[in-house]
Amino acid sequence: MWESGIYDTTKKGDIMDDILKQLGLDKETLSGASNGASFDTDGKIIESRSPTDGALLGKVRCAGEKDFAKVMDTAQGIFEKWRMYPAPKRGEVIRLIGLELRKHKAALGKLVSLEMGKILAEGEGEVQEMIDMADFAVGLSRQLYGLTMQSERPKHRMYEQWHPLGVVGVISAFNFPVAVWGWNAFIAAICGDVVVWKPSSTTPLTAIAIHNIVDKVCSDNSWSGIFNLVIGSGSTVGKWLVEDERGKLISATGSCGMGHKIAEAAAKRLCPTILELGGNNAIIAMEDADMELLVRGILFGAVGTAGQRCTSTRRILCHKTIMPMLIDRLKSAYSQVRIGDPVVEGTLMGPLVTPDAVDQMMAALVKIKDQGGQIVYGGNKLTDGDFSKGNFVEPTIVLVDRPITMMQDEVFAPILYIVPISSVDDAIAIHNNVPQGLSSAIFTQNMRYAERFLSAMGSDCGIANVNIGTSGAEIGGAFGGQKETGGGREAGSDAWKAYMRRQTCTINFGDEFPLAQGIRFG
Ligand code: NAD
Repeated sequence: MWESGIYDTTKKGDIMDDILKQLGLDKETLSGASNGASFDTDGKIIESRSPTDGALLGKVRCAGEKDFAKVMDTAQGIFEKWRMYPAPKRGEVIRLIGLELRKHKAALGKLVSLEMGKILAEGEGEVQEMIDMADFAVGLSRQLYGLTMQSERPKHRMYEQWHPLGVVGVISAFNFPVAVWGWNAFIAAICGDVVVWKPSSTTPLTAIAIHNIVDKVCSDNSWSGIFNLVIGSGSTVGKWLVEDERGKLISATGSCGMGHKIAEAAAKRLCPTILELGGNNAIIAMEDADMELLVRGILFGAVGTAGQRCTSTRRILCHKTIMPMLIDRLKSAYSQVRIGDPVVEGTLMGPLVTPDAVDQMMAALVKIKDQGGQIVYGGNKLTDGDFSKGNFVEPTIVLVDRPITMMQDEVFAPILYIVPISSVDDAIAIHNNVPQGLSSAIFTQNMRYAERFLSAMGSDCGIANVNIGTSGAEIGGAFGGQKETGGGREAGSDAWKAYMRRQTCTINFGDEFPLAQGIRFG
């Protein structure tokens, strides 16, 4: 619940009021636990602050235990009806949601930008991703195909079909506050599942805005409660969601540490999971790389979203013959990056999400230097003038002669390592020698290098690109990574299968009772 009188009276308060007006929302319609059920007040109050200048954007009352129980009960009740509503009709509800999101794209994009700190173009891009996912889900609602098999027994028919799972818990990270929910929620919904969403407590206002837009469409179509929201910390609401027996799948996005905890808790009750965890993504730059494409790919991958994407480029494994040229080109490109208020046109890099994130980046740089890393660009916190109240840092380039221990970790900030390599084999060995396995790329015009990288002895990641950076996946493919990235797949391709249960059915339409494998019994 947004309580009256909580807004900052600064410029940010006005922007928030304006956005709420555009979204057709008022403070009283917003709450931290919702599926249309009335709201208890046992949850604690959290603040949402702008990463750009620390201004208070709003306060939200988190879901308390009673709220959570009510949301889960209602979700379970709705599932029992939704699962029997034909899938193409479920798709029609998602089509209407996609239309509504189109109307609110600009306002929602701005809210993402204000609350999370990514630049406006990326904020709107996230909303577009959600709209694309809605379109994809509408088509998919008529394509939840099963196979038929040839039975070895006469007059028997064998086939498989897919049924909904039940209540699906979606836990999301701060850095993609809307798109990741869309990847999960729309696919789950057309599959006949009902969704309970626990967003990051760093971006609660965005979650509330999305929830209210989407739930209004559902309730206008007599389906309120397909999408539900419970706001609160990972150690309270997140934990309740993972442990609740009514949840039949947990799809969680976040750090590897959080993934380990969720995997253990879910495994205790044998609940399946989709885990989308941290990355440590590298680009291999071979001696014949197209330098224009390479520099653009690195810049978007390493500086975009201020290095706060799971697919952000963190390591460049660069052929030693082109290394001096690449460093010069990158220094020049980095010096032209306009850092500032993410909502202002022309800004390319906004702030980090919290003051803690800045401290973590600075602490990492101290360790990197201790381990022999040489900072050749950036490395500082920005504190002057307009930067003084926000979480601004310089994008940073670090040179190392060979991989250092710090390169094993994902530091969620714009730090880019450059390591010299002398062959494609050398590069792939270094590339794969990290715990995470999300996204990867090679820049080359040599077909043998490219195919080597894409082969079974090449990149060990869930995503492998040629002459495209590590960041910026399309929704049509299945998204996710291997190793400590968790192994989950979301969005396109056949990722929908994780949101359903497969049933193999055999029908005997004869008057004999043959057994499989020719067994005779009695
Ligand atoms: P985080 O791990 O701090 O939190 C993610 C979510 O998990 C939050 O909603 C949090 O409240 C919840 N959570 C934490 N502990 C929990 C627990 N024990 N039980 C239940 N829920 C719990 O991550 P963050 O800082 O919000 O996001 C950044 C991280 O997310 C990075 O590591 C990034 O690489 C990763 N990420 C991965 C993907 C992907 O698709 N692979 C996408 C986006 C972000």
